[in-house]
This record gives sequence, C-alpha cells and structure tokens, in this order.
Amino acid sequence: MSCVGGDDLSLLNDSEGGSLPGEPPPPYQQHTPQVPVFHPTPGESRLANQLTEEEQIRIAQRIGLIQHLPKGIFDPGSDASEKKVKECVICMMDFEYGDPIRFLPCLHIYHVDCIDPWLMRSFTCPSCMEPVDAALLSTYETN
Ligand SMILES: [Zn+2]
Ligand SMILES: [Zn+2]
Repeated sequence: MSCVGGDDLSLLNDSEGGSLPGEPPPPYQQHTPQVPVFHPTPGESRLANQLTEEEQIRIAQRIGLIQHLPKGIFDPGSDASEKKVKECVICMMDFEYGDPIRFLPCLHIYHVDCIDPWLMRSFTCPSCMEPVDAALLSTYETN
C-alpha cells in the first residue's frame, strides 16, 4: 500500500480499513502561522515579526542592562553567622556554595538563571519591588 496519501485510489483499496465511506471532508481551514507574541508595552501585544526597530533596540538595551548587574558565585563565607539572604525567592531554593548569583542594586541576590528571565518581564526586584533600572541609572550617573 502506498504511503503517499491524498490519493483517492488508496482509499478505495482500503475499504476494509474501517474508514466511513461518504463522510464529507472537514471544511478547509486557513492556518495562521505560529509567531511568538511579544508585549513591548503593557496592554499592547504585537507579533514578533512586527516589532519596530525601536522596540527591538529597547529589548536589546534591557538585555544589556541585565548583563551590567554584578554577578558572582554564592559563598556563605565568613559572615555565615550574619542574618542574610540564603534563599532565592524565585525558585524557593537555598543558595548553595558555587551557585552563580546576580546582585541587584537593592542588595538582594538571586540565581542568575532565575533573575534574568524575571528581569526581562519586570525590571523590579521580586523581593522588595525596588525598580532595578532607576537604581542602575543613578549608579551610572555617579560614575
Ligand atoms: Zn533561584
Ligand atoms: Zn530587592
């Protein structure tokens, strides 16, 4: 039997296969291509291929800002007795020695893999809701 499909002869040859004869074919449906939807500004959604150049630059700038945030390796170190953040509030996991972490200007720390996607959606600290970009801009101005 041919596997090419879409061929009326193969349907006739397959009459004992249990397919119902005389059933009308499903109505033709227009397929819209699957394109990821971006939300460049709240309340506005746009297809990815319709982002303006300005919006693409804004996304690239945000990625650049995130990469400017100081990054490090979690080390409980000598001040382990102090009361300090030991848990990443995004994934609710305790930091372990050697975890790659990101320091926010408000001194909260998170896993790099947790905070980076968060900051792409909301540029605020998930613990204290401090806007990260404003703090960043002020540190840039003082430099
Ligand atoms: Zn985490
Ligand atoms: Zn914070």
